[in-house]
Amino acid sequence: MILSASISDALFITLWDHVLGDLPTHVALAQTSKRLRTVYTLDDEIWRAACFVAGFGRPLHRSNGAGAVHGWSWRRLAHILVRHSEKCEIGSCVKANTCFAERYENLTYTRVRTLHPHHPVEFHPLYFYLHFSQNHQAPSHHRRTVSTYLPTPSPSPSPTPPASIPDAVSILLTHLPTFPECRYAQYGPLCSHPNASCVFATFPPVPRLEFENGDGEVFMVVENPGGCTVLDVNRALAQLIPLDQYHLEVAHSHYQDLALASGMSISQYANAISRERGFLGDHEYPFLQHIVANM
Ligand SMILES: [Zn+2]
Repeated sequence: MILSASISDALFITLWDHVLGDLPTHVALAQTSKRLRTVYTLDDEIWRAACFVAGFGRPLHRSNGAGAVHGWSWRRLAHILVRHSEKCEIGSCVKANTCFAERYENLTYTRVRTLHPHHPVEFHPLYFYLHFSQNHQAPSHHRRTVSTYLPTPSPSPSPTPPASIPDAVSILLTHLPTFPECRYAQYGPLCSHPNASCVFATFPPVPRLEFENGDGEVFMVVENPGGCTVLDVNRALAQLIPLDQYHLEVAHSHYQDLALASGMSISQYANAISRERGFLGDHEYPFLQHIVANM
């Protein structure tokens, strides 16, 4: 932290301890004086620590062949999160970071650490809504290969047996668009909701998650050195959507319905939504290129 010794610094440090994970307060503090504005502008580490304690990580950007990278500064990300929470109407997005809030308060570190293989890890409730169908099957086939840990079942555990693979249509739906004129993207893909996207997928946050199928084979790996977020998992899951006729048709009819409702042709619609690529600006709509290319 860039601070020189003075009374106001001491005050700032005291304040800092009390508001560490309170992003709106940091945004407000950064506007209170020229000096604080300078501190907050120059030191992105403040924002990183604040985001961490608030339960937010930084999902990796998709980049053009150069591998996944971090795009936004932590400062920019914190502002995006605060702004979105003021306008989003979806409670599970606005309050996405509240479920582990007390545990973050008791956490003595502000950075992802390597956990003991048998350290218990809990999955964020949103994680369970990314890839399972409406009956919220508990993914007991998912486990971290480094431990014998089984994720806690979703809030409404189903008595039905666990699915052998995640439900590809459910995954697909979290990547499909909504009406482009929907102002707050209420029904947009996950990536149009930065708060729900950036929460860490687990508590405590971990840099790598491996998922095994029932035969003990790893079928998916999620990595983010700063801590795997819900969006990182969401995007890894997208790779599991089969590129087959059935899923193509599901996506096609979805696009067609939205295009019709918007009074556009499919290509006009594709053009319109290609400008709505989520808060990272890099969302790829499943099958859309293929559908447009084959018209
Ligand atoms: Zn939202």
